[in-house]
Amino acid sequence: MHIGIVGAGFVGVCTALQLSLRGHRVEVFERRGGIATESSFAGAGVLCPTALPSLAQHPHWRRRSPWNAQARRQARARRQADWLARQQVLARLFELGEHWLEQLEAEHRLECEQTRGWLVLRPDERSLRQSDADAAHLTSLGLPHQILGPDELASAEPALASARPAAGGLWLPQIRVVNTRQLAQQLRLLAQQTGTRFHLNTEVEDIDPRHPTWLSHGGPGAGPRQETRFDAVVLCTGTASIPWLRAQGLRLPLQAAPGCSLTAPLHLPEAMPDPAPRGAITDAQTGLTLSRMGERVRITDPWADLSPNGRPAIQTQRRMYATLERWFPEAGHGNPAQAWQGTRAKLPDDAPVLGPSPWPGLWLNLGHGDQGSALAGGCAQLLANALEGRPALEGQDLLGCTRW
Ligand SMILES: Cc1cc2nc3c(=O)[nH]c(=O)nc-3n(C[C@H](O)[C@H](O)[C@H](O)COP(=O)(O)OP(=O)(O)OC[C@H]3O[C@@H](n4cnc5c(N)ncnc54)[C@H](O)[C@@H]3O)c2cc1C
Repeated sequence: MHIGIVGAGFVGVCTALQLSLRGHRVEVFERRGGIATESSFAGAGVLCPTALPSLAQHPHWRRRSPWNAQARRQARARRQADWLARQQVLARLFELGEHWLEQLEAEHRLECEQTRGWLVLRPDERSLRQSDADAAHLTSLGLPHQILGPDELASAEPALASARPAAGGLWLPQIRVVNTRQLAQQLRLLAQQTGTRFHLNTEVEDIDPRHPTWLSHGGPGAGPRQETRFDAVVLCTGTASIPWLRAQGLRLPLQAAPGCSLTAPLHLPEAMPDPAPRGAITDAQTGLTLSRMGERVRITDPWADLSPNGRPAIQTQRRMYATLERWFPEAGHGNPAQAWQGTRAKLPDDAPVLGPSPWPGLWLNLGHGDQGSALAGGCAQLLANALEGRPALEGQDLLGCTRW
């Protein structure tokens, strides 16, 4: 088949590669000058297929006005009988995706910054009790984890020994922490080697629902606007999908959720124990995550509003550095830090929309929320199967766009 993919974030790149490896003729359209420059640029990189109940209902989020309605929808969705079944489908998808990506990484010697282990730190006893609900949720999805007491934290993250004490934490030793932008770049090269064409600086105009597989595209550096007719088109357009789907009358409760990160070089003195996180740590009180990215540390605030100058606001940056200093007081961080802010498209039931759209030939792979990096590989496989008419994964219909 001749397949057009709109959007070259991590999801679009994985989808393109998966289809290309199956022998399809794939073309990817990306309005920016590079791949993975929007939501996929610099998230925390924690590859966990599910939102932990205690973090998804973070008080910061509940308080913030534009999010109140979404938080209520989320709470309602979580009470529905099919919520857990949907999360179980995502856990299976994640497993498929991890298996595929790790195999590719080994086979093609792909290199990107990555490590393993995610610790959700609980500063006090009261918040430690919330770990029980998180642990029960992880058990129901078959994700290995362990609740650690205060004396066990340093076994997971040795540099925590010098931090002010915490009450304990939830430890997920097998979760990968990955620089997904770097991985996306490697996967793009692989896709190109298998014949995928990437059209950068090329925006796809509104898709006409009467001919959803005819794409009109153009933009700076792409020459005059052209139309290409495909056998199938996959929308991987992240938050840009929201206005388009709304305009077509497809009422998905998608929201653009903002967040930001700072990635700073670490001072790593030789012959001294490493003073920085080995994997990723989330401070359950602030909701901030500290992720190790090679010789850098990334501090991610998943709740921060976008600031108009394109960098996290000064108070936000202070809070971010204070979290790093609290848990890793000896991890000196240098300048300049790479600052990033972005938005991800989120649905209240913590799951993406994956599968056919109401318009024949147009497929959707979007709305992955906080789990886009974790789910992209598995979603690419499931979408490719569906597109080829292969047997579905049990429960796959729970991810369809008609579930609202
Ligand atoms: C602060 C933050 C932290 C996060 N942390 C994690 C984490 O720890 N773990 C995790 O799994 N996930 C995390 N995520 C979520 C994850 O980053 C996203 O779910 C994922 O990157 C979504 O990828 P995408 O390809 O769908 O979207 P994007 O990366 O946004 O890609 C969409 C692409 O489509 C292009 N596009 C849009 N419209 C058009 C058009 N008309 N024509 C051509 N191109 C178009 C855009 O330019 C863009 O490049 C985080 C997100 C944020 C914001």
